[in-house]
Amino acid sequence: MTAHRRSSIMESTGSISIKDTIQAARKIVIKIGSNTLAKQDGTINYNFLTSMASSCASLMKQGKQIVIVSSGAQVGGLSTISGWARRKDTHYRQALCAIGQVELIDSWRKAFNEHGLHIGQLLLTRNDFENDHCSLNIRNTLFTLVDEGVIPIINENDSVSIEEFSIGDNDNLSALTAILWSADLLVLLSDIDGVYTDNPKTNPDAQIITSVPDVQELRKQIRIGDTNSFGTGGIETKLQAAEKTAEFGIPTILTNGSKKDIITCLADGSAQATLFLADQNCLRRFLGGSQA
Ligand code: ADP
Repeated sequence: MTAHRRSSIMESTGSISIKDTIQAARKIVIKIGSNTLAKQDGTINYNFLTSMASSCASLMKQGKQIVIVSSGAQVGGLSTISGWARRKDTHYRQALCAIGQVELIDSWRKAFNEHGLHIGQLLLTRNDFENDHCSLNIRNTLFTLVDEGVIPIINENDSVSIEEFSIGDNDNLSALTAILWSADLLVLLSDIDGVYTDNPKTNPDAQIITSVPDVQELRKQIRIGDTNSFGTGGIETKLQAAEKTAEFGIPTILTNGSKKDIITCLADGSAQATLFLADQNCLRRFLGGSQA
């Protein structure tokens, strides 16, 4: 991207706030990271799920449509069979995810049922996005569930997706989902308020970056540190996700899912977050915006 084009994007998007972005978005994908879902002891944080279900129900009452990408199969597995925590070999980890996915989705089902809402589960692999027929089926399923007021909850099919089939992290999975569903906004909930100039867990002087017009430029300006104990992708995969969606005209917000009522706080402009702006010149704008 040329300096001229970058500066014109900054000028044209400089006034876009997180509050405006949430208000303008009708179709929202919310990705929830493992660290956000887990308590300190590594088991599922049921209070978080209940509060998230309540926020989603309130967004739906405002006419918004929600798709959730939820990590946490392994966390769910450890909530169920704690004795497997030390089993590191692939077969045990995949088996643990098979057990944990049941616990995870059952917890989501209970949380949404309290609001009279149903959920539907989609477990996907990289193959599903690379195959046109599968992609079309995923898209049709998402549109149908959402049109019927059901909340799709998506996760990578960890028991099936060994390395060659794996997307590898739910940040990229949520970006692919947002693109496939023609979402208006992707929200990544992590355990930090946004992208910083350095890892805020190790550098107290790290500064939050609130608006990112160009991910490539951002990469040159920040230091990417380590991920967390349950995290798989870290900041790099969040940047990859934001870069993918921006190309399709979809902005991405990264914020802290462990903050109380975070979705409401984003909507009223009181939450700290990073807003990755959509590419204003993307193909989707020429195609006329979101469909359906
Ligand atoms: P999640 O499971 O929520 O996706 P990750 O552990 O994968 O979370 O990634 C978030 C973590 O990335 C943060 O908790 C933080 O410690 C780390 N991190 C490293 N570098 C940065 C940076 N420049 N800005 C913000 N966070 C960073």
